[in-house]
Amino acid sequence: MIRWNGWGEEDIDYPLSEQVIDYLTEHLGQGESKPSSSLQAAISTVPPSRLSEHPMVTIDPFERLCHARGQSLPDWIALGSGQIDVFPDGIAYPNSEQEVRELFRYSRRAGCQLIPYGGGTSVVGHINPLPGDKPTLTVDFSRMNQLQDFDEASRLATFEAGVSGPDLETQLQALGYTLGHYPQSFEYSTLGGWIATRSSGQQSYYYGRIEDLFAGGQVETPVGTIEIPSFPASAAGPDLRHVVLGSEGRIGLITQAQVRVRPVPAAERFAAVFFQDWTSGVSALRAIAQSDIPVSMLRLSDSRETETTLTLAGHERLVAWFDRGLGFLNYGSNRCLLIYGLTGSRREIAAAGRALKHITRQYKGLSTGTFIGNQWQRGRFRTPYLRNTLWKLGYAIDTLETAVRWSTVPEMAQAIRSALLPGLENQNERVLVLLHLSHVYRDGASIYVTFLFRRAADPADTLHRWQVLKDAASCSIIDKGGTITHQHGVGLDHAKYLPAEKGKLGMQLLNELCHTLDPDRIMNPGKLLNNDLI
Ligand SMILES: Cc1cc2nc3c(=O)[nH]c(=O)nc-3n(C[C@H](O)[C@H](O)[C@H](O)COP(=O)(O)OP(=O)(O)OC[C@H]3O[C@@H](n4cnc5c(N)ncnc54)[C@H](O)[C@@H]3O)c2cc1C
Repeated sequence: MIRWNGWGEEDIDYPLSEQVIDYLTEHLGQGESKPSSSLQAAISTVPPSRLSEHPMVTIDPFERLCHARGQSLPDWIALGSGQIDVFPDGIAYPNSEQEVRELFRYSRRAGCQLIPYGGGTSVVGHINPLPGDKPTLTVDFSRMNQLQDFDEASRLATFEAGVSGPDLETQLQALGYTLGHYPQSFEYSTLGGWIATRSSGQQSYYYGRIEDLFAGGQVETPVGTIEIPSFPASAAGPDLRHVVLGSEGRIGLITQAQVRVRPVPAAERFAAVFFQDWTSGVSALRAIAQSDIPVSMLRLSDSRETETTLTLAGHERLVAWFDRGLGFLNYGSNRCLLIYGLTGSRREIAAAGRALKHITRQYKGLSTGTFIGNQWQRGRFRTPYLRNTLWKLGYAIDTLETAVRWSTVPEMAQAIRSALLPGLENQNERVLVLLHLSHVYRDGASIYVTFLFRRAADPADTLHRWQVLKDAASCSIIDKGGTITHQHGVGLDHAKYLPAEKGKLGMQLLNELCHTLDPDRIMNPGKLLNNDLI
């Protein structure tokens, strides 16, 4: 059973040792657990639906509660406190493209708006219904999850858009192939959601981001069907795939997608290197990114994230021993951890490993073998469960991210830290800021930031703390010329910052695009484009 107000399966926990709890207390102050709303209390707040029963539409209050919010921190605050102001009026589970088209007819009759829903793992408010006069129908794609066609010669697989990460990989790997798209939300997020948010997997350096993997597909819009054939390449004007990528449910319902797949690799290896400080780590990462070594994953943590990662790893005695050894070798408190992944044949992996070590040594990188890398790989889809534990202990955790050119990486990282660290000083609260670089490119890298702070007694005050921090960090990202999001998308939470990035004419173009495909504005209102601007 999936948690209705947290992450993942109810029977999976992420317990923390006394040492980790002490660490949190030292950095943030003692956490205090706060009462959470019961499921019954939350269900009792669901108002009567404004939609009538229909064979394809359920108005069951539990279903409506489960589709009311995603995984952003404001969503957690609302679900945890049971103060969820708006619910969808009904949920539809289409089984086919014909049923999707029927839903448009239903929506015209019922005068309702539609919210496409994949796995509901959005962290920026993508799937939340907004208050308004019109009823809202959430369209959950979970029943459209099948592999429909596999062109092995072209290595193209056609899937229904609601397929989740595990279901997609199971169907492909049975044929000896993989998509290799592993966002940390892999266990619950879907192909349609990845496309609609321009998602990036943890091994995108090797497999590509979703925009590299999405070859074509089909979208049902309020005014008709868009079919995008897949071509190896095309010069036939602007590429319509880019109208669909990042569309966030504003133009229609993605029903199927062709994706570029590869044979399952023979081997993978994850390993770790320590650098003496952030500057040498960043320089080494840039050199690797610009060297064409076929690594599949790179993640360079700053010194605070390195310290936290080692503390969280448990294995207290081993870490203490490791710590002494590293200190003795001059990898002291400024040390930064790089975890990297290599994917391919055994020969390719061995050659890539040698080439990578050759570079890291030039920056005084200390290779420590595969122990830490394997730990990371084994726990990568378990880490999100930590949110449940922290929440219960009285701490809030959120992430934000950007991407900038290499020449701006150090300055941007510092600007974000400087915005977040003192953000709650006037409330006498501290913020723990952990930062890493991942998703590297020849011209730059994404900067991914995790921040933690104590929850306030009143949910509204916790939300206010988050808003203060989010605003400060987002303004510093814009100020230093970064994108407002590298992989999470715009949704509700980033919509007000988008005009600074796209410009006036750019926003007008996006508005008109949505208007052409959705003249009556029934598709996922308020997301991506702030409605005030329309
Ligand atoms: C713990 C955690 C870790 C995460 N890690 C990553 C990560 O590593 N990389 C990353 O990129 N993101 C990550 N995310 C963010 C999130 O998982 C992605 O944005 C993901 O792509 C959302 O997919 P979903 O199927 O859950 O979509 P949803 O959250 O259901 O929807 C997201 C948006 O897509 C639209 N949409 C969904 N399906 C369709 C469809 N069929 N047709 C049209 N529009 C549709 C929705 O309307 C909405 O606007 C993470 C989130 C969490 C909670």
